[in-house]
Amino acid sequence: MTAVLSARGVRKQYAKTGRPVLEALDVDLAGGECVALIGGSGSGKSTLLRCLALLETVDDGVVWFEGQDICDPRIDADAVRARMGVVFQAYNLFPHLTVLDNLTLAPVRVHKTPKGEARERAVAMLERVGLADKAMAKPGELSGGQQQRVAIARALVTSPRLLLLDEVTAALDPELTGEVLDLLRQVRAEGTTMLLATHELGFAREVADQICFLHGGSVAERGSPADVLDRPQSAELRAYLARQ
Ligand code: ADP
Ligand code: MG
Repeated sequence: MTAVLSARGVRKQYAKTGRPVLEALDVDLAGGECVALIGGSGSGKSTLLRCLALLETVDDGVVWFEGQDICDPRIDADAVRARMGVVFQAYNLFPHLTVLDNLTLAPVRVHKTPKGEARERAVAMLERVGLADKAMAKPGELSGGQQQRVAIARALVTSPRLLLLDEVTAALDPELTGEVLDLLRQVRAEGTTMLLATHELGFAREVADQICFLHGGSVAERGSPADVLDRPQSAELRAYLARQ
């Protein structure tokens, strides 16, 4: 399998002094692979995802994405971002736009897809996520779970090569979490390459090919879900698992 993403020695420090948030961090994703990032609050999961999505700059290291070093300042960052789908904890939908218009915005503006074609794809995507009847609704008229499914649909409608998901169920009531996880299972089954930060360890066990435990700014343990969740090697990972 060819690597979709390969990060080596990533370092990120927000403040000029003090500890880096990410240090000597390596992570790899092969095509079609799903990697789950776990770790305590403040361990750097969101920062890593934001760096990979080029929403933050890294201070050191290289990140290869489809054979291109995306940390190179000469890179066309918008062109890189256009090949990634990103979904955060808060839905970040445009509240004044209909669900359909939320899904056609990037295809039309960024990818220069003709409007008619963008609409067709958006409608097909909404059918796939079971929300075709909400195309004309505004995000505020939907439940949290439905809004997050729209956000996932919006991230997928441009056929990204990599989907980055940051605790996409963390803001949801427990009864709404299931429908979002069901959708992600489906996305996973379709072979989408995914890197997701999650506290849902049962879900990570089920969908991830590999789990990375972040601690102290780097990957402290990595391996199959069974290795990481059932046979933790370090006191830090044992303590994290005991808290969940
Ligand atoms: P996680 O997602 O694992 O909870 P984060 O990546 O959000 O961790 O945070 C890692 C560390 O970086 C925390 O100590 C946090 O306070 C710090 N941090 C995150 N974002 C910023 C920022 N924009 N400016 C300064 N510090 C930040
Ligand atoms: Mg976070």
